[in-house]
Amino acid sequence: MRILYVEDEQLLADAVTHLLEKASINVDWAKDGEEGLDLAKKPIYDAIVLDIMLPKMSGLEILEIIRKHGIKTPVIMLSALSEVEDKVKGLEIGADDYLAKPFKTKELIARLNALTRRPALRESKTLKYEDLELDPDNRSVNGMPLTEKETEILEMLIKSGDKTVQKDYILAHVWGADMMAEDNYVEVYMSYLRKKLKTLKSKVEIKTIRGLGYKLMTKSDR
Ligand code: CA
Repeated sequence: MRILYVEDEQLLADAVTHLLEKASINVDWAKDGEEGLDLAKKPIYDAIVLDIMLPKMSGLEILEIIRKHGIKTPVIMLSALSEVEDKVKGLEIGADDYLAKPFKTKELIARLNALTRRPALRESKTLKYEDLELDPDNRSVNGMPLTEKETEILEMLIKSGDKTVQKDYILAHVWGADMMAEDNYVEVYMSYLRKKLKTLKSKVEIKTIRGLGYKLMTKSDR
C-alpha cells in the first residue's frame, strides 16, 4: 500500500510515518497544502491521509478540488476533536473517514486497511480472465512461471477488467520508490508478458492504448 500523508507538524509526521512504514505502508509526506494538492492529483496512492489545518491551503480545500477533478482515492481526514464542523464538512464533500487528533497510529492503520479493503492475511486466490488463470501467490499463469513484476502487472490488468490501466500507475505501483525506474520498463515487461501469453496460445492479448496505457482484450473483440 502506498499513501499520501499531508501534515504540517513535522514531529508528528515523522513518528506516524515511521510506524506506518513498519507496517509495510509506503508513505509520501507533504508538509503543506500546496504540496499536498500537487501529490494528491497523482493516481498512484491507495489512500490519502489529510490534515485539515495546513499552511497555504486547508485539507478541506484540497479534498474539494480533488473530488471536483474526479479523483476517487479514499481520504481519511484528520483534525482536532474540537473541529466538529470541519468533520461534518469533510464528510459532506467526499472524505471517506475521519480521525480525531490525537490518534493512535494503530487506529490509523486499521482504518487504512479497511478503506483499501486489503486484509492483513491475504487469501490465496486465483484470478481469472477469459482463458487465463493467474495464481499471484505461486506466480504463475496457466501453470507458466512468471517473475514477481510480471505477476504484479498481470494482476493489475486482470483486476481492471475493461478499464485501461495507466502506464504511470503501473510504474508507480510495481516499481514504487525505485527512483531509477523509467517509463520504458513498463513496455519491456509488457513485451515479456505478451510473449508468454502467445506461448500459452491464449486468446487474451495485451492491447496498448496509445497515450493512455494498457488493457486486456480477447482476440475476438477486435
Ligand atoms: Ca495541522
